[in-house]
Amino acid sequence: MIELLKELIKFKSDTKEGANDALRYCASWLEERGADVQLHDNLGYLMLTASKGKGSETIIWNGHVDVVPGHKEQFAPLVEGDRMYGRGAADMKAGVAAMMQAFIDLDETKLERIVQLHIVTDEEIGGHHTSEWLVSQGYTGDFIIAGEPTRLKIGLQSKGIIHMDMTFKGKPAHGSRPWEGINAIEAAMKYHTALQDLPFTKESSEYYDKPSVNLAKINAGDRYNVVPELCYMSYDIRFLPTQDPQEIERQMRDLGDQLNLDMEYSASGSTPALVTSNTHPYIARLQEIIRQETDTEPVLFGQHGAADTRYYAAAIEGGEGAIEFGPAGDDWHGNAEYVSISSVEDYRDILVAHALES
Ligand SMILES: [Zn+2]
Repeated sequence: MIELLKELIKFKSDTKEGANDALRYCASWLEERGADVQLHDNLGYLMLTASKGKGSETIIWNGHVDVVPGHKEQFAPLVEGDRMYGRGAADMKAGVAAMMQAFIDLDETKLERIVQLHIVTDEEIGGHHTSEWLVSQGYTGDFIIAGEPTRLKIGLQSKGIIHMDMTFKGKPAHGSRPWEGINAIEAAMKYHTALQDLPFTKESSEYYDKPSVNLAKINAGDRYNVVPELCYMSYDIRFLPTQDPQEIERQMRDLGDQLNLDMEYSASGSTPALVTSNTHPYIARLQEIIRQETDTEPVLFGQHGAADTRYYAAAIEGGEGAIEFGPAGDDWHGNAEYVSISSVEDYRDILVAHALES
């Protein structure tokens, strides 16, 4: 399995072609070991599914072989003690390698449910062509584990997303007589400062201290001698599972009125937050297995970002059961990305035990 992980890291899968090459390698590796693999192609994005077992319940293991761009040397795996360095080592070729090995290791005769392996190639750019497509084709289940790096903690929630595009309107004037105009950039600054005190920004929930508010884009002004008439400002807001995005939108709209600003806005990109309760039967079992396999108390947490889990969750009645759970490592998307080799082995054992547990 560790050799498999090294081979996967060598694929420069930060492009569509590279990710497809890595995917084809996974397909042959599984087939050589007796798996019945289905290769799917959606607009040139490859993905594979493989299934084992029988029964009325389905567990899905989802992993992506695409990575964010990396330096050339990051595509040559390097082992130092328990660490394997390389682009995608943690995010998430380790998860993929462990899932593949676990899938082969599963004793079908002891399996009382179906385990489906999904390996995809476009998670880092949104997952629309592979994971979302697979779900739309009916490849769904009762419990989904996305093998993102979580340090063997159980990521059972993720924040929702709303994008707010604001336009502040001022009144142009000559730059030498700014008092005759209204400066749209200053209006936006005033708004941004006041935004930090809006009630929604102060809220917390069981797994989160606060929502994420990122001032992501700003665009205004093009010369020194004019008071700017327009300022465009965009926020990426990740809200808590307990928050209502429409209420956030309302607070942001009303703030413009309270400050007496000439402001227009549009809200888009709304993605719901994901919540799986800690009493969910699969979560309870997973915690028990983690205790057994690692001798440590399992940790539950909420992810700040979104992953392919959202597509699966949308297809489950009640929306519960799509989690992120994967090996330990650090600096994914950074230059010193690595995965803990021992955690990959623990992870494989946990996956197998969890699938077999009745
Ligand atoms: Zn990832």
